[in-house]
Amino acid sequence: MVASTGLSGRGCNYAHIVLLIFGVVGASPAVSQDAKPAEPVVKALNNAVLSKLPFADRADFEDVARGFIASLPDALVRGPGGNVVWSQNDYAFLEKDAPDSVNPSLWRQAQLNHAHGLFKVVDGLYQIRGFDISNMTLIEGETGLIVVDPLLSVETASAALDLYYQHRPRKPVVAVIYTHSHADHWGGVKGVTNERDVVSGKVAIVAPEGFLEYAVSENVIAGNAMRRRGLYQFGPLLPKGERGQVDAGLGKTVSLGRTSLIPPTDIIRKSVEKRVIDGIEIVFALAPATEAPAELYMYYPRFKVLNMAEIATHNFHNLLPLRGTEVRDGLAWSKYLNEALNVFGDNTDTVIAQHHWPVFGGERIRDFLESQRDLYKYVHDQTVRLMNQGFTAPEIAERLEMPSSLTNSWENRDYYGTVRHNAKAIYQKYLGWYDDNPANLDPLPPVEAAKKYVAYMGGADAVIRRAREDFHKGEYRFVAEIANKLVFADPANQEARDLAADAYEQLGYLAESATWRSAYLYGAYELRRGAARVGRGPALNPETIRSIPTAMLFDLLGVQLSGPRAEGKHIVINWNFTDPQGSFVLTLEHSALTYLANKHVADADTSLVLTRDALNEIVLRRATIADAIQSGQIKVAGNAAKAVELFSLFDTFNPNFEIVEPKKLAD
Ligand SMILES: [Zn+2]
Repeated sequence: MVASTGLSGRGCNYAHIVLLIFGVVGASPAVSQDAKPAEPVVKALNNAVLSKLPFADRADFEDVARGFIASLPDALVRGPGGNVVWSQNDYAFLEKDAPDSVNPSLWRQAQLNHAHGLFKVVDGLYQIRGFDISNMTLIEGETGLIVVDPLLSVETASAALDLYYQHRPRKPVVAVIYTHSHADHWGGVKGVTNERDVVSGKVAIVAPEGFLEYAVSENVIAGNAMRRRGLYQFGPLLPKGERGQVDAGLGKTVSLGRTSLIPPTDIIRKSVEKRVIDGIEIVFALAPATEAPAELYMYYPRFKVLNMAEIATHNFHNLLPLRGTEVRDGLAWSKYLNEALNVFGDNTDTVIAQHHWPVFGGERIRDFLESQRDLYKYVHDQTVRLMNQGFTAPEIAERLEMPSSLTNSWENRDYYGTVRHNAKAIYQKYLGWYDDNPANLDPLPPVEAAKKYVAYMGGADAVIRRAREDFHKGEYRFVAEIANKLVFADPANQEARDLAADAYEQLGYLAESATWRSAYLYGAYELRRGAARVGRGPALNPETIRSIPTAMLFDLLGVQLSGPRAEGKHIVINWNFTDPQGSFVLTLEHSALTYLANKHVADADTSLVLTRDALNEIVLRRATIADAIQSGQIKVAGNAAKAVELFSLFDTFNPNFEIVEPKKLAD
């Protein structure tokens, strides 16, 4: 997940986002009193799922339990202040049959993700699962331990390693491998090692090319929007329960501890590279621009284990997560799966990944990798085929029929990504937002359009009357659309808000996707209770901001500049960074902020001498430039007032902007 700079969450690169939110909210949500029961139509539809899908196939339940050694009660992990960082106890309600208010297919996945503990995969190779959204894999070397992906939080990573040591020899960690740039695969690194041992060379940190750049940067520029949208994708503020959050698809949810980062010391740059680490041969294979911009998977010949990282998991992954990111490449994704199968498949007895549970046995492995490969390929190719026949994204999402040979495999179901929104992502990747229908080229914005719609349809009361009839017939998709228009036309209309919330809620109960369920239920939650009120603050993690290139900090300042307030201003600043060294000239003109590296100009308004740390503190809003100048942390030659003026032109983003109703706050 769940996570800029810091916000690398979370595939799941949302994780950090959610973590930061909890950092400011600081408490778990109360049990919801206002969630309504499933409507009879929903009950019938959910019930019908039971006869459509192969529930008699229990192989996943056997695999998820296989090799179990031990766990902690409820996998409970507390932080230094006694705060609960992780607990499976919140999900004890899953230990029964699916209720009417949850799609039984999602319920099944939620049950599987409820398993937790230390598991032996094969002799010498173990996994900790269910202690965070992701897995930690432990490989026993000749003298020490190799940790693959130290979870999201320092606390969960440390608890996971402790659990391992309670049952296996206490060998020191000699290497950490980050499979990819999302924070749930590196944030807990300081729970398994420390900077000193890494710097001294006692512990190696291996990562794919581009890891650090993407780990700290993937979500900087759009961080505030992603963080807010992450609340909808993951539902961290929703009560957990059969009418609330039940799962995140890839795992239960994200842990709420501290994230850390130690930069890698050994980078995998070739498409396939072998290393022997502590006597263990590891074949690394790069799979960039798939689930993450920098990602690798691994084959361990000694164990005949293929570790697919997050390229092959037990669900259809996201080509574009609901929280927003750049579109991922489904075609490349399928090709890497095919390569993995072709190169390693015949010599593999077990497939593991850094989420979910293993697949055991040659024939099942082939089926698993083939069906995942063909899932991404089918949805890509058929979307493009329909696109070239002229269909638009919503039409394709509706028309795309999946072959039953794919959809009857549990690992291909829509728990995280969905066929419908992934098809739209593919359309977006190739053709963008515009469907080429000029009616959609420059339509009225939501509030103005909603007012006209409601007026044309005879006013709100008439619309509500008809929408209620449709609600009782189960036409929730259209009721949601029309009730949303009513709310945007008049957010004070309580009947409209209630109707929209009720429609979202029933859609949430029907959803097979955990992310869709969260989006719908959290939309209903905010309509009933108002938008979240998390504290203002930049979506940046202080521990990772250090690793962001200075140029990228200036990019970030650029998108914080209020264009209207900067109108007519002209400010030029020379920057001299002493630690690490660097020089920039920053220019504000035409309400746009631009810069050049390795350059100063003679006619600058002012020249600043400072450390990067001083700028970090200002960007984090933990210090102002005026304070830093006054305290001498920033030395100024020229007109200091110009530097202070520039920094007065930057916005602090509202982390609580309205989504399911009109914006209340000024831009
Ligand atoms: Zn992940």
